[in-house]
Amino acid sequence: MTLLNETHNPALRSWVAAANTPDNDFPIQNLPFAVFRREGSSEAFRGGVAIGDQIVDLAALADQRILGEAVATALQAGAQSSLNALMALGHSHWSALRLALSHALREGAAEQAALTACLVPQAQAQYTVPARIGDYTDFYTSIHHATNIGKLFRPDNPLLPNYKWVPIGYHGRVSSIGISGQQFRRPNGQTMPPGATQPVLGPSKRVDIELEIGIFMGPGNALGDPIAIADAEQHVFGLCLLNDWSARDIQAWEYQPLGPFLSKNFATTLSPWIVTLEALAPYRAAFRRAEDDTQPLPYLDSSDNRAHGAFDLQLEVLLQTERMREAGQAAEHLVQTNYQYAYWTIAQMVTHHTVNGCNLQPGDLFGSGTLSGPTLDQAGALIELTQGGQRPIALSNGETRTFLDDGDAITLRGWCAKPGFARIGFGACVGQVLPARS
Ligand code: MN
Repeated sequence: MTLLNETHNPALRSWVAAANTPDNDFPIQNLPFAVFRREGSSEAFRGGVAIGDQIVDLAALADQRILGEAVATALQAGAQSSLNALMALGHSHWSALRLALSHALREGAAEQAALTACLVPQAQAQYTVPARIGDYTDFYTSIHHATNIGKLFRPDNPLLPNYKWVPIGYHGRVSSIGISGQQFRRPNGQTMPPGATQPVLGPSKRVDIELEIGIFMGPGNALGDPIAIADAEQHVFGLCLLNDWSARDIQAWEYQPLGPFLSKNFATTLSPWIVTLEALAPYRAAFRRAEDDTQPLPYLDSSDNRAHGAFDLQLEVLLQTERMREAGQAAEHLVQTNYQYAYWTIAQMVTHHTVNGCNLQPGDLFGSGTLSGPTLDQAGALIELTQGGQRPIALSNGETRTFLDDGDAITLRGWCAKPGFARIGFGACVGQVLPARS
């Protein structure tokens, strides 16, 4: 469990002025990682660290040798076109690099002049998926989402009996994972229209969002060696935002008996910045199970996990329709919720995923599952917000939505804030639905 240290001190200020403004996502206490290059250039993609409205170019920094030999290995790894090598190095390297950057970016730092030459404005950046993701597993850790969805798909049997014992997940698809800004065509697929006797092939009429956290793995485990819950977080690099676009009509027809297939694998969008567990240390929260609720089996339980296995992470979904865009109208708030309502923690996901000996590798990605909160206005998917499409959402320009229309863009945002600590944010995860291919 990562403890608080000098890098979390809320009084720290950076010589990058924009890092010190109150509502900015990237103060000196955050220091998240992405992979980027200058937009429109043919530069190599390389790792970067966000500070205010700038990016510290890790490839330039590695060449300059400003930060000393202790972090040279981490910088060389972070300078590559994907962060897998940095993810593989483990917590001691990540933490040393964070501390060195925290020192060099502080007001009054001797490194300011040399480091200024390594900055690229975020406004000029193009991002890419930050790791070569070997495998992607999507979990189902919100009991509120599982219950809401279960009611719609199986009114008589909403929550299946394994839910409170098993951190449920399925193996997803990597090839269609994109970075914020991703545009994708409305998927065609097979659906069974209400009252029909045979299915039809056509564009999905129920394209939906899933508000999720993405979790990037650090060092892996050997095939056959489970990861104990006490060690689980040593295998986690950090968190981003994830939108698991879902075609509900395709899903309803195909999902039994083996689970989601073509309803989920046409697009998944990530935010570019990965916020490390160390940066999130001030925002750890207790993992709570009511005393009269099912308790985790011993391999999924620990005092550390109960004390601070969860994260107090605020999450928001915004929608901008084509008409809003044409009218110059900003994206409109749909939902706000919090990651701490999840029924299973990240440590429990890692431990359960490996209990059979399954090996994780650096750069593997987990999705948390849709992070709906306890009330319906905290739901992380339109199918819940609109109660299966029965109650349209009224937008301020007079439009309504049940599911997404062509041209709709969805933005996910996430941030942590509490008195006595610096607010840190995740940036944005934006994706847009384009018309189906005819
Ligand atoms: Mn999902």
